[in-house]
Amino acid sequence: RGGQAEREVPFAKPGSLTRVYAVASGKGGVGKSSVTVNLAAAMAAQGLKVGVVDADIYGHSVPRMLGAEGRPTQVENMIMPPEARGVKVISIGMFTSGNTPVVWRGPMLHRALQQFLADVYWGDLDVLLMDLPPGTGDIAISVAQLVPNAEILVVTTPQQAAAEVAERAGTIAVETRQTIAGVIENMSGLPCPHCDDHILDVFGSGGGQRVADGLSQATGTKVPLLGQIPIDTRLREGGDTGSPVVVDTPESAAAVALRGIADKL
Ligand code: ADP
Repeated sequence: RGGQAEREVPFAKPGSLTRVYAVASGKGGVGKSSVTVNLAAAMAAQGLKVGVVDADIYGHSVPRMLGAEGRPTQVENMIMPPEARGVKVISIGMFTSGNTPVVWRGPMLHRALQQFLADVYWGDLDVLLMDLPPGTGDIAISVAQLVPNAEILVVTTPQQAAAEVAERAGTIAVETRQTIAGVIENMSGLPCPHCDDHILDVFGSGGGQRVADGLSQATGTKVPLLGQIPIDTRLREGGDTGSPVVVDTPESAAAVALRGIADKL
């Protein structure tokens, strides 16, 4: 939109009815994108109008996980986002060719995010989920500037070391005065495939509660642990094949946990 004034971000306007959640994590590989995609699909299955911004600029994986194979189209001055599973989705990966890595610095990332929020035709959304890059980078600051009313969801594994970095990522919200909607613990144990009553704590235990307690202390308000999602092969397969576990294997333990979290948001 060279030369033209920037459009306002509709979700930041006073009176906007869209709930915006920015999904954050301390480090990569903890399941942040999987959680984002499955929460979005679960909410859409309940009849909510849902959008996802894949702001994980370096690790964009949301379209594949959601099975959104379409490309954005341009109608007049707006970008029409592809849709899958009833979820509208936009990702930086849709604007790069092949698997070219994106090497952008802060100002360009900010501009891309601004366009994703303001130049994409989202319609009237009930919920917008934003999949942030891991850590405490420029994008988290940009989100706070562009959508100050966005609430933060922190994803961690149960591991002590992971919980510590997750807490640091959450603490950014204290500086930006954003609300932390809650903590989600992922990879919370592996239900033994050979018996019914044994759970293997592959990544330890207690990390989610520790992050929730730490962030409650840092913010002075109660930050809830919204749920614990077990390790589940079907969740990983669903991500690889673009069929979110929450809708395609609804009876699985991971799907049940994810729906429980979606219900609290
Ligand atoms: P992040 O966005 O934090 O980098 P991803 O969502 O890409 O993490 O997840 C990393 C990998 O772990 C993916 O292959 C994903 O399918 C897998 N994964 C995530 N959560 C689970 C889980 N609860 N059970 C099994 N595999 C999982």
